Amino acid sequence: MYPASMIDFMDMFPTEEACLEYLGMVRWPEGYSCLRCGSKDASKIRSGYYRCRPCRYRGSVIFGTLFQDTRKPLHLWFQAIWYVVNQKNGVSALGLQKALGLGSYHTAWEWLHKLRRAMVRPGRDKLSGLVEMDETFIGGVRSGKRGRGAEGKMLVLIAVEDTGKGIGRIRLSTIPGATGEAINNATFQMVDLGSTIRSDGWDGYNMLANVGYVHAPVTHALAASGDATPLAHRVASLLKRWWLGTHQGAVSPDHLACYLDEFTFRFNRRTSRSRGKLFYRLVEQALQIGPIPGKALPATYSG
Ligand SMILES: [Zn+2]
Repeated sequence: MYPASMIDFMDMFPTEEACLEYLGMVRWPEGYSCLRCGSKDASKIRSGYYRCRPCRYRGSVIFGTLFQDTRKPLHLWFQAIWYVVNQKNGVSALGLQKALGLGSYHTAWEWLHKLRRAMVRPGRDKLSGLVEMDETFIGGVRSGKRGRGAEGKMLVLIAVEDTGKGIGRIRLSTIPGATGEAINNATFQMVDLGSTIRSDGWDGYNMLANVGYVHAPVTHALAASGDATPLAHRVASLLKRWWLGTHQGAVSPDHLACYLDEFTFRFNRRTSRSRGKLFYRLVEQALQIGPIPGKALPATYSG
């Protein structure tokens, strides 16, 4: 169950209780089970709060989730999530602060970072089948020397499923350089073993064949279109446009991974017509990840 429109959204969540009920429904679709002993024999104290009969433990729907220690009302969080999923090109902390009328920029910034963490589904599937890979530089102006990573620039490894009809799902990863070791490590995180990797023939991809992948290099000269990895290049140009448009290129290297997660979340759901479905998904994932203490967030402001 998810809101279909802004009006729907406002109707569904008029009060704190309504938000708590919704979280309960998303977190325990089969009904509450005790957070301590797992028993389903529990009574509801009030919205979002339950008492286990066998062990007497009092559980709350926000305990152990991203919302655990929040001092702000949940309906404000819900508005933040609704706003985030409705901005097609991503959001800035300033944009969120204005949209919600938050007094503090810091709060908006912190919430955005937390929601970006929630955009990564815990234990998410890796890509499989035929996967195209290439690297691209983010930040900086000139393109640097391949393999090492140029000054002031960040290197991103792009993996794209080739569905035969076009682009399937994507994964992005920061890498220290386009070396065989860096590419192997990042590929393990993004792509199932046994998958076929198409690359442009750069040496850094050669080691993939030794560690459980089928490597199918296509050199640019051999490619019929003159482009060995067109899908990865298309993702790279969208990524760059998003980077310059939404974030004005002003993101420091220690935040980049979080922004890539946001881009991936939005990209992989680009065909989902319903923003409400995205809302549901982000709420669900916020409940699946644990609390994020402020000190676990990047130390410097950006974006
Ligand atoms: Zn119990």
